[in-house]
Amino acid sequence: MSEAIIKVENLCFQYPGRSVNALQDVNLEIAEGEFVALIGQNGSGKTTLIKHFNGLLKPSKGKVFVKGKDTTSLRTAELARSIGYVFQNPDHQIFAETVRDEIAFGPKNLGFSEERINSEIEGVLKEMDLDVDLDEMPFQLSRGQRQRLAVASVLAMEPSILIIDEPTTGQDWKESILLMNLVQNLNDKGHTCIVTTHNMNLVSLFARRVIVMKSGNIFLDGATQDVFRREEELLTAGIKAPDVYLLARTLIPQVQLGKPLTPQRLAELLNTQSNLG
Ligand code: ADP
Repeated sequence: MSEAIIKVENLCFQYPGRSVNALQDVNLEIAEGEFVALIGQNGSGKTTLIKHFNGLLKPSKGKVFVKGKDTTSLRTAELARSIGYVFQNPDHQIFAETVRDEIAFGPKNLGFSEERINSEIEGVLKEMDLDVDLDEMPFQLSRGQRQRLAVASVLAMEPSILIIDEPTTGQDWKESILLMNLVQNLNDKGHTCIVTTHNMNLVSLFARRVIVMKSGNIFLDGATQDVFRREEELLTAGIKAPDVYLLARTLIPQVQLGKPLTPQRLAELLNTQSNLG
């Protein structure tokens, strides 16, 4: 595994006025180039953990390192260069009057030259498959386009780590897949991608590693296909593995999966099994 781009050591966090820690002794390493799904029931601590990655929260105890630097020594603006955070609801993020201003805002704040900003705008629109007029008002775009605009405006700051909070909210399956395919392309180009979602089918299709949170701690952490095979434990964390894994457990319990399971792959494995049998 290459060097950790995010490292969390014995992290505890307590919100003011709360008696129970929202995070309790979390230890975690994420390597450069990973595609990670962070899952868990509401209230399990996902957002609190992510807010430690982008410096919005500082540890009550323990340490968080991004690219080897302790986040307490960095300003949030400095962290924004490394970590791009896309909000769950794009309308909480989008504020500018035009598509151009929306994308230019971050790079401008980081002091990019006008020439570089223009080339960023062109590049990220292409990367997010957004064929829109730069003078268009963001609120006139479709929900799916606004979500992709939110990702584009974060991408324009060229963060090496991309965190996307619940990319499927308010989107239909086709739009969700389109967005996730674009995120996959970014991952293929070397961006480290961290996605939180309640959609387990999407996790199964895209994430190579799954981290399950439960009551402020990491409950399971491993390759997607291994985590989803632990159905009983997942249920205790309020998560149901995708049906394709439940089918595999019944039909081919002895087969080592090796990589995440899709319906197509299950069909192939079943074919191989019946040919062998
Ligand atoms: P998740 O993102 O998995 O839904 P959160 O990180 O939002 O979980 O919440 C973890 C715990 O912290 C929960 O018990 C939640 O009630 C509590 N919590 C979250 N935000 C706040 C806040 N701003 N003030 C007090 N408690 C909070």
